Amino acid sequence: MTALPGRLLLIGHPVSHSRSPAFQNAALRRAGLPLTYEALDVLPAHLQRLASSLRTSLAAGNVTLPHKERFVTFCDRLTPIADRVLAVNTFWIEDGALVGDNTDVGGFEEAIERAFGSGRRWPRVALIGAGGSAGAVLAAAERWFGTEVRLWSRTHARAMSLARRFDAICTPVVSVRDALEGADLVVNATPLGLEPGDALPVFIQDLPPRSAVFDLAYRRGETAWVLAARGAGHPAADGLGMLIAQGALSFERWFGQAPDRQAMWDALDS
Ligand code: NAP
Repeated sequence: MTALPGRLLLIGHPVSHSRSPAFQNAALRRAGLPLTYEALDVLPAHLQRLASSLRTSLAAGNVTLPHKERFVTFCDRLTPIADRVLAVNTFWIEDGALVGDNTDVGGFEEAIERAFGSGRRWPRVALIGAGGSAGAVLAAAERWFGTEVRLWSRTHARAMSLARRFDAICTPVVSVRDALEGADLVVNATPLGLEPGDALPVFIQDLPPRSAVFDLAYRRGETAWVLAARGAGHPAADGLGMLIAQGALSFERWFGQAPDRQAMWDALDS
């Protein structure tokens, strides 16, 4: 989009913990754009009404937990990648229409390259969790060359239903151990790790030797799983790199210009 949006919003529930306002506002200030990125706590029961009001306020923004999948149904148009994932994390108004996009896919790819090096191949991925962000991981993995994904989720029906949509690359399995067999990359796409004292998504001793570990969850000082995996010799990264990358890609969609990513990272340190 080219004209400035009327409002720039993060829609979620809860949202007070989100670090997106800090780095998006830093990027807006650095670009000299006269807007504030506001976090809006929206209960699921109020999401439809809020979505209808976005056209009149010419809003743009992000959607986060737990609304990404339901928000799809309120959009007039989806970009091809949002349509593939069936989850929206970025929106704007174009010619009066509410457009939904998904920058988690590109954000995940960028973060994997940043963490483990570009041009690396991942023949076997173990994916833990089968929600909206697992869909983004699968949409990225199907763009990679020769990647197979084994998907485990505690609700097997949910893993089967997601795997069906990506059946060329993805097999649902019934145990974490089956998912881990021969994996080069192990991805946590559950919320485990967001809170101190959470169980680890995968026991460190069960990780295949030399497998890389990527945690979509993030915390100040990194997640316990990432710290433990790295301590055991695995290359490991948490979801902070993905958070910045998806936010930077959203900024490009809204304003047609790249944000100052260093300003975004600096805002997280302050
Ligand atoms: P979601 O749609 O709610 O899906 C969560 C998945 O995790 C489901 O498969 C769920 O299983 C499973 N799960 C939930 N609690 C669990 C537990 N205690 N033990 C085992 N499995 C559990 O969530 P999402 O949108 O995919 O997000 C997942 C995580 O990714 C969140 O931590 C989110 O913050 C993070 N994320 C990070 C970024 C980033 O930029 N770094 C971007 C997107 C998402 P059930 O179906 O059985 O409940």
